[in-house]
Amino acid sequence: MDKEQFENIGDNHIGTNVETPLRPDAFEKSDSEKIEAIQGHFAKIMEELGLDLTDDSLSGTPYRVAKMYVKELFYGLNPMNKPKASTFENKYGYHRMLIERDINIDSACEHHFLPIIGKAHMGYVPKERVIGLSKINRLVDYYAHRPQVQERLCLQILKDLQELLHTDDVIVVVEAAHLCVSSRGIKDKNSTTITLEYGGCFADDAKRKEFLDQVIKA
Ligand SMILES: [Zn+2]
Repeated sequence: MDKEQFENIGDNHIGTNVETPLRPDAFEKSDSEKIEAIQGHFAKIMEELGLDLTDDSLSGTPYRVAKMYVKELFYGLNPMNKPKASTFENKYGYHRMLIERDINIDSACEHHFLPIIGKAHMGYVPKERVIGLSKINRLVDYYAHRPQVQERLCLQILKDLQELLHTDDVIVVVEAAHLCVSSRGIKDKNSTTITLEYGGCFADDAKRKEFLDQVIKA
């Protein structure tokens, strides 16, 4: 691919797969080995930009960035960090819609490594299994903390919840601002992107509307 194609893929936010594209050897190095390697690479980037790394304010930046990437922003790349999300038998026989809304989204776009900030809303209609509410937030947080495209993030959350809950009757909406749209390129400060993925009963217009009426504020 040439540089123009790279730019186009970034600006059009094209994702290739519902799975995050990972190398087969992605987790052969430990976190501390990764931090050390990235620290060296990031120091090179700063040097190429002309920055003086002997300055007190800058000298720790390569380490800080490396640690932030591995331990914070992209901790969700490593399946070892996936939250244990146990489910419970639906003993009380609740079979109406359950909605969890305004779940925090702190992610980063994989095309520019700039923040994606927003919220997710999800709904499901329980069958035999239910899930602890905060577990939903933890799962969203895990999938958000990878280099992402919003469409894939939405699908990854949906598919995981469908598997956990043993039902297709799940809907996920992500509404987010992309700093690669607001701070570079077109520099649109106000636009947000909404993605919506669902299965089962949410294919029904009335069911979907019932959900959306609760989560999308005018
Ligand atoms: Zn981007």
